[in-house]
Amino acid sequence: MGRPAETGFAVSTQLNRWICLLVFFAGCARNTPEPAVSYSPKPAPSAAPVTEGELLCYYGDTHFHSGYSADNRRDGPPLGAWKSALARTPEAASHVGPWLGGYFLFVTDHVLYTKTRPDMDDALFQKLRSQADDPSVDRSGPDFTFTAFAGAEMTGLRRGGDYPYFDDKFGHLNFFLMDSIAPYVETDIANNPKGEAVMDRFAADPRHLAQFNHPGYGEEPRTGDDSRHLYPYTPERDRVFRFIEVNDDQPKHWDKGVSQYNLCLRRGYHVSPVVGTDIHNTRAGLTGQARTVFLAPSTLGKSLQERRSTLVAAARAGRVYATENQTLQIQWSLDGQPMGSRLERRDQGEIQVTARCANGVIERLEVAADRKPDVSEDKIENETQCTRVLARWKPGRDEFQGRQKVKLAGVHYLYVRLWIETGERAVTAPIYLESASRGSKP
Ligand SMILES: [Zn+2]
Ligand SMILES: [Zn+2]
Repeated sequence: MGRPAETGFAVSTQLNRWICLLVFFAGCARNTPEPAVSYSPKPAPSAAPVTEGELLCYYGDTHFHSGYSADNRRDGPPLGAWKSALARTPEAASHVGPWLGGYFLFVTDHVLYTKTRPDMDDALFQKLRSQADDPSVDRSGPDFTFTAFAGAEMTGLRRGGDYPYFDDKFGHLNFFLMDSIAPYVETDIANNPKGEAVMDRFAADPRHLAQFNHPGYGEEPRTGDDSRHLYPYTPERDRVFRFIEVNDDQPKHWDKGVSQYNLCLRRGYHVSPVVGTDIHNTRAGLTGQARTVFLAPSTLGKSLQERRSTLVAAARAGRVYATENQTLQIQWSLDGQPMGSRLERRDQGEIQVTARCANGVIERLEVAADRKPDVSEDKIENETQCTRVLARWKPGRDEFQGRQKVKLAGVHYLYVRLWIETGERAVTAPIYLESASRGSKP
């Protein structure tokens, strides 16, 4: 694949390097191996609790289109999207302060589906990949990094007749970290594999990473828009499908998105909430307010490939949250274990939360946990129908630190949700309380 891009600004003190290495290796130990079919929870395999200052915020977007998507045909190639995003980051960085690690952007053009339109084939995908490696969109310092990622959005495959206007059989899925999209491109009109077959072909390679897109909002039938179309849990799908979009920078979609996040968790998936803006405009860059945030060690002075690995390791480990505010930092833990952790069930524990916002007052912050839903699972429209509140704070200021003992009997997963005074919201990845027989599934 493309050139190794080790350009620019590689400034790092020896001390920083040591801290990065230590934290990085601690992260590796935490993330491997992935649980296999029979899950046995390992209480704290994971090493040292996260302490202040070790993890930094990486703000970005995992869903973005260039002119390689047929519904954006007048637009330019993906390089322009990364360039716009990179050009905007210094201004954003000036607001965020010391908790900033950097920015990232996944460009995810639509994959060719011959029944409807001429989207990206594998030749274009290879161009997209090499543009993601272009030195002009690589920044490794001096005070933050910018990391470009290549991806693709699966949209094709007609769902059997019940939605004649659209070509969705399984809604939309974002695929990341694959070498090729050839196995997923439809070139033979006579060949119409089931959506599940395509999903499983992708999930068969554990190095891949994937996302459920815009579930249940928008006009089209989307991933998870009812109980039939959110694919059932399998361990292979679970180890690859690690993101679900809970918002697209449109407040009206928030409730539906977070409901579907809870539905995914109830099925047993280990998914983190992301905001995918789904912008089709390479000049827009990271222009919206909403961001997906990865919490990862400093990537200053690292090569492009090392930075990608660091961010992907954080994402796989569930150090992720979705926010409508682009300056928000949230870190939290249960009994010293950070968000994303899979722990043994317990009757009680201590929550610790830190939150900071550079341009707004934190109005309310809650620790939510699963409970028996008020309605059948596929009818959940609002997270309050299937969650309870374990802890609640009303900080009324831009920085908050809290610590509270909570009861955890019957809890399978818990996460933090937060509201800024402006109405902007954020939701974090969960901590899972698992058992050998059922994993985290309620
Ligand atoms: Zn889509
Ligand atoms: Zn899209």
